[in-house]
This record gives sequence, structure tokens and C-alpha cells, in this order.
Amino acid sequence: SHWHSDHIGAASMYGAKVEIIAHEITRELLARFPDPLRPLPTVTFKENLIVELGVEKLELSYKGANHCPGNIFIYAPKQKVLTKIDIVSPGSCTFMHCDASENISGWIEAHEQILEYDFDFLVGGHIVRWGTREDVLTSQEYFRDMQTYVEEALDRMCSPEGAAEFFMTGPPEHYAVYTENWINSMVNYVTEKLIIKTTSNGQKWSDRLAGVTTNTKYHAYTLVESNRTERSHKGYQKRGTGGTDYFI
Ligand SMILES: [Zn+2]
Repeated sequence: SHWHSDHIGAASMYGAKVEIIAHEITRELLARFPDPLRPLPTVTFKENLIVELGVEKLELSYKGANHCPGNIFIYAPKQKVLTKIDIVSPGSCTFMHCDASENISGWIEAHEQILEYDFDFLVGGHIVRWGTREDVLTSQEYFRDMQTYVEEALDRMCSPEGAAEFFMTGPPEHYAVYTENWINSMVNYVTEKLIIKTTSNGQKWSDRLAGVTTNTKYHAYTLVESNRTERSHKGYQKRGTGGTDYFI
């Protein structure tokens, strides 16, 4: 699926005569950072590749960076099994920082892309059971709720006036302390709102997904930062509107 060693770190045990199929970016990364335990892919593709062996068929597809660059969708149409690793961890709110992902806009988008497949079973990685569409929808709802609170936090604390309350409090040599307090205040706002929320089925998030009480604050940090760097926020990143050049 992708170049991370927690998924392909034992690939070398299959020997040198095995065909290894991956995205071309996966090959590029493994060539750049060589690891004898992760041999280079022998077949690569850019957008789509169909693999057929006898009566079995796999449809491989790349839709852009999400968890990491080169992370592909692997679909078995006959069995209706989709393998998409490190996006949804069925039954869990997933590992810290959106499963230690790189492109958070792409990672959020991947939930939609998973749901575009006609699948009955999702192999998501890092969990002891497979997932269903319901698991994907639940994970999507959790991160949509979080996004709502991230936008509220940015509205309150990322405006010039809101941020000034953190930065105009003392001597400039303490700038790093003000920054930490500013970011953590947004993260704490999002975390508290999400944990106390009564969700769409009447339960708390901690009743619906494992890891909510421990991992929400890490996801909140990642989502706050991805909103600040990857997404437009009501003119926040649009020059000339809202007087927001201060934060760009
Ligand atoms: Zn990974």
C-alpha cells in the first residue's frame, strides 16, 4: 500500500524473485531512503493498474497524497473488499495525529474516496477486525465534528484580535511561550468540545470509538495546524481580506 516499514518492513522475507507492485512514488521513496528489508518495487504505476491472476482481479488506484505520498487503493471487485491503509481504523478514532499522516486535507478526502467504492469489507490496517461502510461513516462524522470545532477555535483565537490576546501580553523574548499557549488553547478548545458532545446517535464519542479520550487532543492539534496551513479559513489565507497578513 505505501512505503512505511510498519506495513512492508518484512517484504524482503519473500526473496528476490517475487514481483512487488507499488506506486511509482513508493519506489522513488524506497530508492531515496534504501532499506534492505524493504526491497524496491519491480512494477510501478502512476494512476491505475489492474492485476489479474487466474480468476482473481485487483484494481489498484492512486488518488494523490493522503496518509503519505504513494498510498494506494487496492480493490477486489468480485469479493467487494477494499484495502486502504492508515485512513480509517475500524472501531477506533485511529492513532495519534490522524494516524501519523502527512497530507491532512488528502487524509480527510480519502474518507470520501473510500465511500465511492462498492465494498462490503474494508481492510484498514492497525486493528484486529475489518471495517464496514458504517465504520467509515462513523470516522468521517467524528472528524467532521472536530472540523466544526476547529473552525470555531480559529474564529475565536486566530483572528488578529483573538491572537493579540496571546501575543501582546509581555516582552517579545517570550514569543515561543505565547505561541505554545495560543496553539494549545485552540487544541484544548476543540478537545473539550468534542469529548463532551452528544453525537448524532445520542452517545458520546468515547462510547462510539476507542481511543477518543487519549487521542482526540493529538488529532485536534493536527487538524488545527492543517487548517492553518492547507485550507482557506474565511479569508484567513486570502491576502487583502480581513487584515490577516499578520499570520501568513
Ligand atoms: Zn503508514
